[in-house]
Amino acid sequence: TRSPRLVIVSARAPFVRTPNGIVRAPGGLISALLPLMRRSRGTWIAAGADRDACEASELPFRVRALSLSSETRAAWYAGASNGALWPLSHGFVEVCRFRAEQARAYFEVCRAAAEVAAEHAPPGAVVWIHDYQLALVPALLRARRPDLTIGFFWHIPWPVAENLRVLPWASELVEGLLGADLVGLHVPRYVRAFRDTLDELGVAHVNEEEGIVVPRGARHARIEAWPIGIDVEGWASLGRDESVAAEAVHITSELGGGRVLLSVDRMDYAKGIVERLEAFERLLEQSSEVRERVTLVQIGVPSRETVAAYRDLRQRIEATVGRIQGRFGGPRRKPVHLFARTLDAHELAAYYLAADAAIVTPKRDGMNLVAFEYIATRPRPNGRLLLSMTAGAADVLPEAHLVNPYDEEGLGSAIGHVALAPETANDSTRMAALKARVSRLSVETWASGFLARLEQVTQEHAPAQ
Ligand code: UDP
Repeated sequence: TRSPRLVIVSARAPFVRTPNGIVRAPGGLISALLPLMRRSRGTWIAAGADRDACEASELPFRVRALSLSSETRAAWYAGASNGALWPLSHGFVEVCRFRAEQARAYFEVCRAAAEVAAEHAPPGAVVWIHDYQLALVPALLRARRPDLTIGFFWHIPWPVAENLRVLPWASELVEGLLGADLVGLHVPRYVRAFRDTLDELGVAHVNEEEGIVVPRGARHARIEAWPIGIDVEGWASLGRDESVAAEAVHITSELGGGRVLLSVDRMDYAKGIVERLEAFERLLEQSSEVRERVTLVQIGVPSRETVAAYRDLRQRIEATVGRIQGRFGGPRRKPVHLFARTLDAHELAAYYLAADAAIVTPKRDGMNLVAFEYIATRPRPNGRLLLSMTAGAADVLPEAHLVNPYDEEGLGSAIGHVALAPETANDSTRMAALKARVSRLSVETWASGFLARLEQVTQEHAPAQ
């Protein structure tokens, strides 16, 4: 079989410059794509990356950045992407700021990315574009290079139609995506929301007999659910590592030997961190057992601090933790530990092992990989996962303890249950089922499956010769 050249287009670079030299950027997506890139001698176009780190000579394949002014970059990334599309897609319409100047920057960056991709893609190449920061690229690239096979993956929830309507450039966004041969979303729920959007915007002729197929001139755009996964073996091997296990024992004893609950999030309002802390605070009020025996560790990765909504959030999280400590803490007892920093995978794995339960209660989340990592890291089928029904992960992990993060009492009692209920055979049955599901959802399978499907649908829909 032929192995066409692969071009990846994403906002961030696969490599970053650190004091110790150039290293692979964190994240499963990059580890899944690296071998494919090497094999196909591909090109990676990192729209928002620093040119220096990208164009260093020691990289295993070609990486290209765009030349953007710092104003354009900020208006595109912090503005249109993280100040408008992110809150819109997560259902936080009130947080959205729609500014014409930011929309202009978004269009400009998508045009520039499409141009660089058009320039670097060999004839007949496969181009895979990633995420909400670059949604216009498929149609812009298609217009310049009809010979290419174009895939797109949208990594966050698809907005409900009523919300998307208020984006002043909603039609352009959707038409931009429909330039792709295959648009991937995480779960069928998002595909249905996309279908509603097509109705709302009056994009006609959707063929639903075989999934969602939208005719575009002589070709078709197909919309499908492709749930992403993680580097399962990477996390499992950290979970078996002796130094990680020793660190986990150390963490448990430092925390006083009681029950340990763990939450790991970027500090983002969509993650429901304050709401979770408040639910835990009410539990502390109600239950002496929780006051004596349960500790919540909240890892809060600083995130997007140039966007005002995020700065406020960090202050609210810190104030809530301070209040809980003031009310329920003591010289030897700290009911909540907040670490406002980024941990590496080794440290994170130790917390995954130390935690009796992972509390993953975002208000909305495209998928949520922390839920998968907790399951994959633990060598044995033990521990509990409390998971929001509003996270994409809930659609693929039905054996988790599911909770509605908007239901205050429900959230509190679910946290209390996973913290304190005696362990039964049901726990290991659930966790074994979850481990099987996570193993089937590896990110390698996801990436190669999506690319194979992209080629297949392109051939099926190729105009007759
Ligand atoms: N993560 C990390 N260090 C940390 C906290 C998180 O490397 O201190 C990683 C974590 O392993 C996971 C990712 O960040 O792969 C978070 O992904 P998720 O889908 O849960 O949320 P996102 O941040 O993409 O919204």
